[in-house]
Amino acid sequence: MFITFEGCEKSGKSTQARLLSRYLKACGFKTLFIREPGSTVLGEKIRRILLDKRNDRMSLATEMLLYMAARAQLIEEVIRPALARGAVVLCDRFQDSTLAYQGYGCGLEIAVLEKVGRWATAGLTPDLTLLLDSWQSRDKLRNTSLPDRIESRPDAFHNRVKKGYRALARKYPARIKTIRVQPSILQTQAKIREIVESCLL
Ligand code: C5P
Repeated sequence: MFITFEGCEKSGKSTQARLLSRYLKACGFKTLFIREPGSTVLGEKIRRILLDKRNDRMSLATEMLLYMAARAQLIEEVIRPALARGAVVLCDRFQDSTLAYQGYGCGLEIAVLEKVGRWATAGLTPDLTLLLDSWQSRDKLRNTSLPDRIESRPDAFHNRVKKGYRALARKYPARIKTIRVQPSILQTQAKIREIVESCLL
C-alpha cells in the first residue's frame, strides 16, 4: 500500500508520517518511510539544488522538472521494489506537492503538470493521501531561523498553495483525506491512525 503525506511547511506532516511508520512497524507491517524530493542518493542531491537559496535564478520549468526527476528516481529505485515486497510505503510529499506548489502556487498549468507527472511516475498513484491542514503554519514558520528557497517565498504564495491543496482534496475525495491539525501531535496522530486502519484492516 502506498500512502503519501501532504501539506504546507510546518504542518507537522513529517512528524506524523514518522509516528505512523513506527506504529505500523509495531503492528507487524513491513513499513518504509521516505521523503520526496530525496531518499535516494540522486534525489538528495536534487533536493539540495532545489532548496539552495543561491539558486535564485532557477526557472520555473527547471524547478518543476527537477521535482519530477527526483520523483522518477525514487519510484524506480525505492517505491516500486518496496511495494512489490508487500511493504506499506509512507512518502512525505509526492505529485500533489507539485500540483500545489508549482501549479497553484507558481502558476504552471495544472494539465501540463498532470501530464508530465503521469509520465514521470509511470502512472503510479497513491492509494491514500493524508493532507494535513492548518491555518497556523505560517506563524510557526516565522520562528524558524533559516527558511529554504521555497519557504522564503511571500505569504501570498503559501496561501495559494494551501488553497490549491484544498482544491485537490475536493477533486479527489476518495484518495485525499484531509486531517485538521489538532492542538496536540498525538491527537492528530489518532485521527490519522483511524483513517489508515480503516484502509489497511
Ligand atoms: O517536505 P518539506 O517541507 O521538507 O519540503 C521541502 C521544500 O520543498 C519545502 O520548502 C516545500 O515547499 C518545497 N517543495 C516544493 N514543491 C514540491 C515539493 C516540495 O516547492 N513539489
